[in-house]
Amino acid sequence: MVDVIILGAGTAGLSAAIYAVRAGLSVLVIEKNYHGGQIVNTPEVENYPGIPRITGFEFVENLYQQVTGLGVEIVYEEIRGVDLRPAVKTISAAGHEYQARTVIIANGAAHRHLNCPGEEKFAGKGVSYCAACDGAFYKGQDVCVVGGGNSALEDALYLARTCRKVYLIHRGNEFRANRVTVNAVKACPNVELIANSTVEEILGGDLVEAVEIRHNMQFHKRRLDVSGIFVAIGLEPQNQLFSSSLRLDGAGYIVAGEDCKTNIPGVFVAGDTRTKKVRQLVTAAADGAVAATEAAQYCAMT
Ligand code: NAP
Repeated sequence: MVDVIILGAGTAGLSAAIYAVRAGLSVLVIEKNYHGGQIVNTPEVENYPGIPRITGFEFVENLYQQVTGLGVEIVYEEIRGVDLRPAVKTISAAGHEYQARTVIIANGAAHRHLNCPGEEKFAGKGVSYCAACDGAFYKGQDVCVVGGGNSALEDALYLARTCRKVYLIHRGNEFRANRVTVNAVKACPNVELIANSTVEEILGGDLVEAVEIRHNMQFHKRRLDVSGIFVAIGLEPQNQLFSSSLRLDGAGYIVAGEDCKTNIPGVFVAGDTRTKKVRQLVTAAADGAVAATEAAQYCAMT
């Protein structure tokens, strides 16, 4: 048994690991995929205090080295079940059971899908959810990005460096992305902004050849001949496993305040998977620090 099990090795989880091990706790991190979480998909991070510019990949590698350098063990397994209410918490993975005095849930959120015809069929064949991972395959080609938040606009800027043309399709008129990024996109000569429009269908043979979009008010349709479509329409929490014991909000986020405490003593939540207003790299890291500090206090008192 360890003092704390951290579920997820993204920024929140790895920050929690740093604070927990430095508070003298024994720590185990369990990650389903590759360590790093969402930020690994971000081409460039320019808003983390003290680091003027870094790629998401480099940021993650630095964090990983920092955490493993402190002696934290990370195991790569998918969680199948949790028993969080008893004083000793149990986390079940395929073939293993892990026990801890406290649990910090930092499982992030997954990419939201368009759910339009063609999206599933062309996944990996022109439909991508990660410009930083797949953008290089589209050098010199025409592509589109869907979304109106920071991710979509940053992806559009990133792709515009190497693609011939980038269409940015947004269902609304106002962007959620910050002003600096919006202005940069507007000034980019090979990005065409298409507002108030929805992707109706993704078309092609073996690979994507076009998308059909529809204007949301005038209802006219337009075909864009593109070989890639980058979907960046936000994230969705993946908290079904916790829904019988933890309080979730209507959108599926685990309910907790700035102290990262859930409705179960000894169970904390950090990062994008928590109810919160600002989901940023820096707030994920801050949550990790808070949750680990709370976990250390809980261990000291029980
Ligand atoms: P987001 O901010 O939630 O934006 C999602 C965008 O997708 C919105 O413009 C939304 O449109 C649109 N959308 C949602 N569902 C859609 C659908 N079914 N069809 C078409 N469009 C749809 O998501 P995000 O850009 O992934 O960012 C997630 C969080 O990470 C945010 O808090 C963001 O600030 C943060 N982030 C920060 C940075 C940075 O600071 N450098 C970089 C990346 C992400 P509506 O606007 O009409 O709702």
